[in-house]
Amino acid sequence: MGIPDPTRRLNEYPHQLSGGMRQRALIAMAVACKPRLMIADEPTTALDVTIQAQILELLKDLVTEEGTGLLMITHDLGVVAGLCDDINVLYAGRAVETAERAPLFSDPTHPYTVGLLGSIPRLDAPRGEPLTPVRGSVNDNIAWADGCAFAPRCDHYTMECLQGPPQLVSVGDGDPGHVHRCVNPISHADVVDRAVLESPAVVGDDEEERG
Ligand code: SF4
Repeated sequence: MGIPDPTRRLNEYPHQLSGGMRQRALIAMAVACKPRLMIADEPTTALDVTIQAQILELLKDLVTEEGTGLLMITHDLGVVAGLCDDINVLYAGRAVETAERAPLFSDPTHPYTVGLLGSIPRLDAPRGEPLTPVRGSVNDNIAWADGCAFAPRCDHYTMECLQGPPQLVSVGDGDPGHVHRCVNPISHADVVDRAVLESPAVVGDDEEERG
């Protein structure tokens, strides 16, 4: 697990270990049991990127070599992209978009999924380009019984969104496993268009024209 001097550490108390070491000790106990299903809730949160990569490799080996099922709960979409086959995006306790990894990342349709992906820094983004966070906070919800819980934070909100809780329905891209809970989903063309319109090159051109 990458803990230096493990023989000495074995005789130490938990308060003598760093948070990352305690996290790795816990993961080691879970892995040692060779479970049929492992539920990993933010397993790499307190780890630096090097140890994080080691832990993720370990989890991958557990799945491929031991046949362990892995249910990963995380906010880190980088971890999701590298590890998960099937993805549920949850909002206010409900799945709002479900798909296999490739369609979820290449063709997201729910505004929350699109917002999450848009808030990740990209290496290929132009220098200085600001991130686009999902506006508001998780407290800005309405009850699902009253409509879409994401409505107070959604730029695609219409009155139809408050006609009761949206149901999980097929995205309609021919993939039966790709479903979403949204009455005004975002199309792939919208995402591409918005990315183009928001790029500094286009904004700069507009400003020059206005000037
Ligand atoms: S149902 Fe309406 S408010 Fe909810 S995510 Fe879709 S567009 Fe936004």
